[in-house]
Amino acid sequence: MRTITIAIDGFSSTGKSTLGRQLANYLDYVFVDSGAMYRAVTLYGLQKGFISETGFDSEKLIASLTDISLEFVNNSEGIAEIHLNGENVEKEIRTLEISEYVSPVATLSEVRKKLVELQRKLGEGRGVVMDGRDIGTVVMPNADLKIFMNASREVRAQRRYKELLNRGENISYEEVLENVTERDNIDSTRQLSPLKQADDAIVVDNSEMNISDQFHMILQLAKDRIAGRI
Ligand code: C5P
Repeated sequence: MRTITIAIDGFSSTGKSTLGRQLANYLDYVFVDSGAMYRAVTLYGLQKGFISETGFDSEKLIASLTDISLEFVNNSEGIAEIHLNGENVEKEIRTLEISEYVSPVATLSEVRKKLVELQRKLGEGRGVVMDGRDIGTVVMPNADLKIFMNASREVRAQRRYKELLNRGENISYEEVLENVTERDNIDSTRQLSPLKQADDAIVVDNSEMNISDQFHMILQLAKDRIAGRI
């Protein structure tokens, strides 16, 4: 059967990774969570002290990009997890602290160049589902199926808040809402590869949709593309 490439873009906390993993799992494709890569670079900057409450030394971060090696490794359940210089950092990159610093890091052209190259390599020559902000516009402009996801800001913040609480973070809903708003703002107004809907993307607003209905709807679109029906 022919394999296709699927790009999922959209605002923060719209469930892109959840959908991406479901599709990749069902279709037996590779799943690339591009946001995890920007998060891992941000974690590296924090660990090295280039990013802190008092400032962001972007030059130092850029100068050490060659020391950063990223890899996705499947865990025992077959779920791909990100490794930074050989260490599994899947948990560390999901904190609100990383979410607060990641968008400025993602505006840097040197960072984007390195990560986009890697993303293209990971998706080369095979069935792939990739999620992010610029996948359908920049990373895989020829993707066979492009989805652009959205949901109301409050619904998204509420989902992310619950997720962070479940992970044991001590945060308020207001902090999460503020972070979601701030990231959307930086991501959609940055000069380089801003978050925007590709002309040929299918828009899905999942404010009122459950995860299973959404999966089946988009799986059907993918099956149609694979069969060459649309
Ligand atoms: O998808 P996730 O919310 O984990 O992404 C974290 C951040 O990484 C985004 O808010 C955005 O600043 C950046 N990002 C990006 N381009 C991508 C994926 C993520 O700029 N393709």
